[in-house]
Amino acid sequence: MIMPEKLTIVRTVVELRHAVAAFRAAGRTVGLVPTMGALHEGHVSLVKGALDRGDVPAASIFVNPTQFGPNEDFAAYPRDEAGDFAKLETAGCRIVFAPDKDEMYPVPMLTTVKVTGVTDGLCGPFRPGHFDGVATVVTKLLMMAMPDRGYFGEKDYQQLQVIKTMVRDLAMPMEIVGMPTVREPDGLAMSSRNRYLSAAERTTALQLYREMNTVAQTVRDGRSSCSEATAAASKALLAAGFDKVEYLTVVDAESLRPFEKVTGPARVIAATRLGRTRLIDNIAVS
Ligand code: AMP
Repeated sequence: MIMPEKLTIVRTVVELRHAVAAFRAAGRTVGLVPTMGALHEGHVSLVKGALDRGDVPAASIFVNPTQFGPNEDFAAYPRDEAGDFAKLETAGCRIVFAPDKDEMYPVPMLTTVKVTGVTDGLCGPFRPGHFDGVATVVTKLLMMAMPDRGYFGEKDYQQLQVIKTMVRDLAMPMEIVGMPTVREPDGLAMSSRNRYLSAAERTTALQLYREMNTVAQTVRDGRSSCSEATAAASKALLAAGFDKVEYLTVVDAESLRPFEKVTGPARVIAATRLGRTRLIDNIAVS
């Protein structure tokens, strides 16, 4: 077995830039994996994605307060820095940037990056200000590290489209790579928030992936309209024990506008509540 090389832990932007510059000077490209920590196999797959493309993987760990609403789980969000560093090193990550809040936001921010259009629907109305917080912190992280590529999961599909749109519109000199969702063996999408689920909720949670698959098959075969298929699936989820279906819809894979009849690349995408846990997921229609 080839042992991974050591992980360099940096806390400041200056140290991060030095660490990235050292690899650049050696002729290497760098791939940044921004995270909020509490890492699992989904995050590790992004590090592997960077390695597969020949990039030196660099990760960031920062639970960004500005993307949480006042009644959301910022305080409760799981934190395990030592465990995260160990997972990153084992995966072959070479730099981890783990700043504190003052390093990320040394003075009150007078600038916000706001992406319109792709933020209008889905999670947008349910999490006011969330995508502004995401777009602004990801812009900062990308400007701080200046990677050749940024790696993001399709698990957060709307976020991925927001970041792709922002990088395109602002001509940021880097490529954004979307990586497939990593799932538990039974199909539940891995998420740091899955640890909020009780054992009974964990069993119920699986229905989300099942129902999304049913919707994908039904609309792909043209057996019913998107609104009929998603209404049936929402009903089934509520019957299975979900507390709320915020949305469950079929959208254009790029614009995220809802489809009634699928006429191009499409995603089934959903946000639900189960007990105190908000579960989001999405799959391709074809
Ligand atoms: P988070 O720390 O949960 O905000 O996620 C950091 C990055 O990991 C984001 O780009 C997520 O989309 C990605 N990610 C989270 N869960 C998964 C998963 N199950 N599979 C693939 N990528 C994921």
